[in-house]
This record gives sequence, structure tokens and C-alpha cells, in this order.
Amino acid sequence: MTRIAYTKPSITEHEVAYATDAARNGWGVKCYDYINRFEAAFAAHLGVPHAIATSSCTGAMHMGLAALGIGVGDEVILADTNWIATVSPIVHLGATPVFVDIDPATWCISPDAAAAAITPRTKAIIATHIYGNLCDMTALLALGDAHGLAIVEDAAEAIGSVCKGRPAGGMGRFGTFSFHGTKTITTGEGGMFVTSDAALFEQVLTLSNHGRARGQTKQFWPDMVGYKYKMSNVQAAIGLGQIERIAELSARKREILAAYRRHLAPFQGLSLNPEPEDGVNGAWMPTLVFDAALGITREACLAAFGAADIDARVFFHPLSSLDFFTPQPANRRAWDIPTRAINLPSYHDMTDADIARVCDVVAGLVRGGA
Ligand SMILES: *Cc1c(COP(=O)(O)O)cnc(C)c1O
Repeated sequence: MTRIAYTKPSITEHEVAYATDAARNGWGVKCYDYINRFEAAFAAHLGVPHAIATSSCTGAMHMGLAALGIGVGDEVILADTNWIATVSPIVHLGATPVFVDIDPATWCISPDAAAAAITPRTKAIIATHIYGNLCDMTALLALGDAHGLAIVEDAAEAIGSVCKGRPAGGMGRFGTFSFHGTKTITTGEGGMFVTSDAALFEQVLTLSNHGRARGQTKQFWPDMVGYKYKMSNVQAAIGLGQIERIAELSARKREILAAYRRHLAPFQGLSLNPEPEDGVNGAWMPTLVFDAALGITREACLAAFGAADIDARVFFHPLSSLDFFTPQPANRRAWDIPTRAINLPSYHDMTDADIARVCDVVAGLVRGGA
């Protein structure tokens, strides 16, 4: 039996043809062609007017928060359950991250917890759509309106997720996406900044190119100190090929989650990523949470999956449990759920037999207890 990877990209001749063309011809006057096409195709897919390709989602978030003027003395609220990439830009800008608990149904930021954490210093709330699950954007956007705060979306894991007809990443002041090799669409490393706010778009565009505004006619003339978070044309060529296949890539992600749901339906006490009432879960990462009563731990899962040669990953550790932050175990759900949860493999080309093999391990855990 071969090892089952937890993710790997689906790269076809389509992406290879674009990348080859970019490598051969995409220089000189053509050096931005694929970048422009990828940005336009991504914006069109999402239905937002502005998109800027970046070297990472982290960079996109860094520039977006900087463009909002967030800095020393400001607070930014985010879920304790998050990847480090969501918080590091806050720290780099000298602002203070405020970690709050998650909603037990969505594993995303709890709007009530966010509301309770607002102070006069709060500048923004980051809504991370974890594992493709949607934050309660209706509640968060209302909170933003009521308090004059920016609601920002980390949609790195949520391409394909839709809330009441609106795409994840397209609802807040800005949204960010990741094209890291593990994500639903990939450019190896890469990201995207999207917004409907024309002024914010111009600011981030300038920031992304070392502070050089696009209308600036003087050569080598930055108007401010910016960042260098641009994507290369060759990466964008792969990205264009991927976004042109988004319907197929997204559908397969959802199919895999549905297959897990079907296989695991007979067992009591298991929760997989929720399907929103009024939307779609893009199903980036099927994640299984065991009811506490089952007594099945993360460690037992890792051992069982390891023995079956299946690459399963742990649910994100609460950020406040990392050594350089102050522990906040009062964020009970963010601290509890990861101790009895596991990410399941989900890559485009995995077979039904692979899915069955993963589910057999889960069945063994449930039958055998911890
Ligand atoms: C992957 C990921 C990121 C970071 O993406 P990079 O492109 O690696 O910077 C940020 N936030 C979340 C929630 C992610 O899953």
C-alpha cells in the first residue's frame, strides 16, 4: 500500500503549457502578461473589481492591514484558532493581537466573543474561514458597522466557499487568499489581495511595489516605504491555469468531503466541516472532530493514521498557546477542540479506495476507543 498524502496539487498539461510559455516568452514587455491575466480571472471568478497577486497570503494580509493604517497602539481581534500567518502581520506592524474563542459549530471566530473584546483601541476584526468553513459574516459585518471597525477576511482556506451568494473573501473591507502548495489552487507559493474599495486597492498596489505609485512618472521614485510582495509571471501562469479549472478543483474538494460524510455517517459522535445553511463550504480540508465522550485523542489519531501510512494533520493549536504569546485557556473551545480532532487527506486525485482506507482507520478508532 502506498502512503496517502494529506494534500497535493492537481497540475495538468494546461498549467504546464502556460508555465512553459511564461518561461520561454514572458519577459521584457510581456513580463506582466500572466500576472494581469491571473488577477483579472481571479477577480472575475470572485466577482470583485480589484485583485493584486502577491508572493503569499501573509504578504497580502500585511499590506492590507498596513493600508488600513494599523500600527502601534492598535488592537486587532482574531480567533485563537488560526494559522500563524494570520497573526504575524499584526505583530510586524507593532499592533496587538487579541485572541478570542471560536464558535463550536463553525470552528471560526465567535461574533459574541469578538464583540466582547472590542475596546477603544480596536481597529479591525479578522474573519478566518477555517478549513473552508464560513464565519458568521452577517454578525461580523453588523459588528463592524456598529463600531466603525474594518472586517477583514482571511480566505486562504476558503476559495469556493459562498455565503448567501457572496464569495468568501469578497465580503469584508478586503480579503486575502493563499496559493501555497497545500491549498485548493496553487502557484507553489503565492497569494492574492482582493477588495471592492478602489482607494484601498490603489494604496495596496503602491505598497506592493516598494511604494511606487502607478501614476508616478519619475523613474526609481517611491512615494513611500512599501513592501516587495509581488508574484512572478511564471507563478501567475500556473495560477491562471488553476483558476481556469476552479470549478473542477472545487467540485472535487466537495466530492471528497461528501464521501467522508457518507462513509462516516453510521458512527455517532463525529463532526465533519459544517455545510452552511445558506451557502457552500469550499471543503478545502475535511476535518474530523470526535465528541469528548468518545475519548479519542489527537495523539491516538496520529498514531493510528501513522500506522496505516496515512498523512493526517493536527487541528491548529490555539495561537495563544505558542511560547511567545500569553496563554488564554479561557478560550475554551479553541483550546479543547484540537485535542480531539484531525485533518483528513483530501487531494484531487485521491481514489475512492483511498477514502475508504482513511475511513477504516476512523472506524477502528471509534470501535476500539482511544
Ligand atoms: C495557508 C494560510 C495562510 C498563509 O498563506 P501563505 O500563502 O503561506 O502566506 C494564511 N492563513 C490561513 C488561514 C492559511 O491557511
